[in-house]
Amino acid sequence: MKVELENLFSIDESSQDQVIKVYNRYGIFIGAPEIRKRNLKASFNPIFTLNDDVTYEHVAALYKSLEHELGIVSIGERFYFDFSDSEYEQAPLFTLNSTGNSPDMFIDDKGTLFSISTHCQHCGLMEKEQLSPLVIDTTEMKDRHLVHVSGYWVASQELATLMKQEDIKGFELLEVIHQGPKEGKRKAFQILPTQVLPESSTERVKLYFATEQPPCRCGLSGIINGPDIYHREDLTDLKNDIFLSAEWSHDGRYLYRKTLFSRKFRELIIKNNISREVRGEKDKNFGPKDWLFDPVLLN
Ligand SMILES: [Zn+2]
Repeated sequence: MKVELENLFSIDESSQDQVIKVYNRYGIFIGAPEIRKRNLKASFNPIFTLNDDVTYEHVAALYKSLEHELGIVSIGERFYFDFSDSEYEQAPLFTLNSTGNSPDMFIDDKGTLFSISTHCQHCGLMEKEQLSPLVIDTTEMKDRHLVHVSGYWVASQELATLMKQEDIKGFELLEVIHQGPKEGKRKAFQILPTQVLPESSTERVKLYFATEQPPCRCGLSGIINGPDIYHREDLTDLKNDIFLSAEWSHDGRYLYRKTLFSRKFRELIIKNNISREVRGEKDKNFGPKDWLFDPVLLN
């Protein structure tokens, strides 16, 4: 697994050579930027790999130099985790990060009952406990097989049937309540995993954005978690196909437990042409209906 960082900012065309020199000084070699013709602004978005030679502390120092020497303050950052082919081939479990490179994979909650409590006084993250079936407008699912509703996965009737036929195990289905127009309404089911995985390995990569507030003391807000990583022996005797992680994830407001899926489940989705095989966000196969599964790492 490789961690890559993308930067994004605009500068005057005349200062592009100086910007490239600052990156080079920190051991990062980037090409000439794209120039937007209309206003002679050069738009830089170098992507480079973080490793022992180029660490994130290094990059934070680079940002200080860009600011002090060239007055560049607003730098967009984005992390990518790039897996090797053998990591895809060996992983027993996968994290499902997306069911399409499109905002349509998200459906709004239309009134599910939750009980809500504060988890962290400092950053205000909240815990929520679901007290009723999910309430959504199922017409918004259109012909999608799996959509994301505030931390939960909701499957179409067709996908639910396929999972049963193929003997996918480790979950219960809870039918959602439809709220919206009658025409085009569909049967849909929340997937409720019945098992929680053992704790993950402490070797997990944790990153933060140097350009934003420092992480909260609760260890959740402001931290970008790298890929899920488990002790190999903890996963050898796993049965079933769908699990919740023991650790909390959050969406900026509420905590939730991430759902992980078996290799068998991923293969089923690809074999039945529900999604093409996608390896990473930058894969050209990652279209509006393709599913992005990241392999779980073992140590
Ligand atoms: Zn906090």
